[in-house]
Amino acid sequence: MFEKMDKDFILHSYGRNYVNFTKGKSATIWDSNENEYIDFTSGIGVVSVGHANEKVSSAICDQAQKILHISNLFMIEPQAKLAKSLVEKSGFDMRCFFANSGAEANEGAIKIARKYGEVDGEVKRYKVITLKHSFHGRTISTLKATGQESMHNYFGPFPDGFVYADDIDHIKSLIDDHTVCVMLELIQGEGGVEPQDLQKVQELAKLLKSKDILLAVDEVQTGIYRTGEVFAANLYDIEPDIITVAKGLGNGVPIGVVMTKLKDIFSPGDHGSTFGGGYLVTRAAYEVLEILEDYKTSGKLDEMMLYFESKLQNLCQDYPNIIEKEVGLGLMRGLRIKSATLLTSLINNAFEQKVLLLKAGRNTLRFLPPLTITKEEVDEGFIRVKKAFEMTKA
Ligand SMILES: *Cc1c(COP(=O)(O)O)cnc(C)c1O
Repeated sequence: MFEKMDKDFILHSYGRNYVNFTKGKSATIWDSNENEYIDFTSGIGVVSVGHANEKVSSAICDQAQKILHISNLFMIEPQAKLAKSLVEKSGFDMRCFFANSGAEANEGAIKIARKYGEVDGEVKRYKVITLKHSFHGRTISTLKATGQESMHNYFGPFPDGFVYADDIDHIKSLIDDHTVCVMLELIQGEGGVEPQDLQKVQELAKLLKSKDILLAVDEVQTGIYRTGEVFAANLYDIEPDIITVAKGLGNGVPIGVVMTKLKDIFSPGDHGSTFGGGYLVTRAAYEVLEILEDYKTSGKLDEMMLYFESKLQNLCQDYPNIIEKEVGLGLMRGLRIKSATLLTSLINNAFEQKVLLLKAGRNTLRFLPPLTITKEEVDEGFIRVKKAFEMTKA
């Protein structure tokens, strides 16, 4: 019934599965027929403290009964509190601008870079270097920033000034007098859960600093404890000029943030958002950060990362004919599968076994469980994943 409604009235921009999920708890979700699934995706790395998290839900309900919206022409108390919390937890000396999505946060990053490149009212430096296989969003400019030419069909003309490097080593040779910023994911998510080399990243950060070129790290997927630290930049021990955040920050409410060391880059009127940083989403995100800080401090997050990793290693040992290698960090994990056909059948078989998994580039089976997933859920999920592998004999 709803499948037809969806097909009739929603544009067909997604390859959709028509299961109707109606409720969830932690990493377990139920469909309208009361079938129970284990969620190893948390949306796409969004529901970081689990479905129907009580603290987040109560904060949302409480806020909804008080006030939901006033424009950004007024101070918004929970916005200020969230910004302070985010900055303090990150350890970076930054200020925040609130948007509503990852793409929008990256738009903000690009605008910051372009303004930084301006001298005497004229844009002198404007080029942003990004990496092949990257993903930065679906708006016209973040799509252009995305280093996957296949996604650029149909939508041109695009704004100028985006240059793609094959990899980190290639960046240096692309720098010219017009380069103002390098934007990258420390672990490419959509591109195949591919971590960058730590030493190369640190060297790049030094090089850029010496040339007064900004380093913007897109932490939309890696941010908010996904890799075990607040930001992957903390793990890589670098200090970016710009960090963008979204997915895992709101546990499902739409929120995006661009954070920058360039604290005075914007003057009133330079940038804005009607909804960005509203009461509801900033209250929710504040709770998410509090929950995850406790979870990290108690040692539970590190414990879970090791436990999840050991489960993936078992799979690698048991199915060397299907799995090429393990990739990723923390609770952002992938298994490189030997062919695209095998990957598709694995995901379908996993769904049949009632465990949700994701696909990523370079034939990667992707795991992005809620960070607070229980050991029992992990055990049950991997029993089902194993069954899916059994069904997928290469
Ligand atoms: C998902 C993602 C985006 C886009 O976020 P939206 O909220 O969908 O706009 C940007 N960058 C990275 C690294 C992402 O994973």
